[in-house]
Amino acid sequence: MNYFSLHHKSPTTTFKNAVVNGIAPDRGLYFPENITPLSKHFIDHISDYTNHEIAFEVIKQFVGDEIPAEKLKEIIAKTVSFDFPLVKIDENTASLELFHGPTMAFKDVGAKFMAQCLEYFNKDNKDEVTVLVATSGDTGGAVANGFLGAKGVNVVILYPSGKVSDIQEKQLTTLGQNIKALEVDGVFDDCQEMVKTAFLDEEITKTLTSANSINVARWLPQMFYFFFAYKALHKTQKELVFSVPSGNFGNICAGIIAQKLGLPIKHFVASTNINDTVPNYLVDGIYNPKPSKATISNAMDVGNPSNFIRILELFNNDIEALRSAFSSYSFTDDATRNTMKEIYTTSGYVADPHGAVGYLGLKKYGLNENEFGVFLETAHPVKFLDVVEETLPVCVEIPEQIQKVINNKKVSLKAASYQDLKDFLMK
Ligand SMILES: *Cc1c(COP(=O)(O)O)cnc(C)c1O
Repeated sequence: MNYFSLHHKSPTTTFKNAVVNGIAPDRGLYFPENITPLSKHFIDHISDYTNHEIAFEVIKQFVGDEIPAEKLKEIIAKTVSFDFPLVKIDENTASLELFHGPTMAFKDVGAKFMAQCLEYFNKDNKDEVTVLVATSGDTGGAVANGFLGAKGVNVVILYPSGKVSDIQEKQLTTLGQNIKALEVDGVFDDCQEMVKTAFLDEEITKTLTSANSINVARWLPQMFYFFFAYKALHKTQKELVFSVPSGNFGNICAGIIAQKLGLPIKHFVASTNINDTVPNYLVDGIYNPKPSKATISNAMDVGNPSNFIRILELFNNDIEALRSAFSSYSFTDDATRNTMKEIYTTSGYVADPHGAVGYLGLKKYGLNENEFGVFLETAHPVKFLDVVEETLPVCVEIPEQIQKVINNKKVSLKAASYQDLKDFLMK
């Protein structure tokens, strides 16, 4: 499979190069040249397949022959190593829980898949690859865990000092081995800026890549979730509507590719917090990115979603076509808290703030009696413990995965400016 740059000024390249380089030389995002629908027989008989078999069918055309089938199956087995349960909330709504992985956020799947692809591609290379990643919280933990022990791959995670939760900080600073955490004196945007500067710095001769959802190996495996949900629901005979809590819009964009592969999905709802660049675009057709605003669903505090350009590509930049298959709504923190309470009161279900935004999207869309709505529950409530325990009369039990890191010792290096990162990378 070849990939082209969405800026159209770089040559097409292989899956391998797209993964190793992250972004095209013209700074455009890579996009697959072809998307071939899966057979109707496969879709109709999806419940005859295991999750590993489904994942293999779904991803294989995007990898092509660059990873042998047996190796790809091995990578999938290590990636899809936990459950994705669908929990019914009411008659026509369910929560698709994506948080049962090692760091309890849905990014575990993409991070693990990408780490193993990179390790495979770099196996004969004596030079190590350095993965640079800026995090506002969740990405760092998933990347640290996913890349831990990957041979030939070093990971440098930049996070804003004092601005991530204690659990998140432990997840990204305590693993050791090939994972280094740089604690930046600043906010998330400063971390991101330092990463971008490093990519453009010609004095740094190491091979650098990004483990952000711009990387095709982190983005595409997210298609699996939609197939797993369909496997659980296809006997209901109802049309499926997915609401995806969205920040950088990578997850929902993977859902749209799943639909292109033939998965019968009626409609997508991209649910956001007050960072409403995309909802506004659907209203007036003007894409006006803004600086991000802080909310209680902070993994979605993104003012300029990097994957939206891929969504436009999937709809041939036709806004009318986009509007008929895709809605996007924005919700305030007050509405989010009220909904967490409402879900809890009516069903006993504890939603985290991101899942609650997803649920709100389904309500706003207004499901009819022939439709069934699934919202993606992207993080375990324990990852947003303060908000959940302030809002709901519950005490969240600390799951085993979190218990394991909570008492480990934090190890980080302080970075006050870009020069500190550069010195670190030039060593
Ligand atoms: C990253 C993240 C999101 C947003 O996903 P995108 O693919 O960036 O739209 C939503 N919820 C949680 C908990 C996340 O960590």
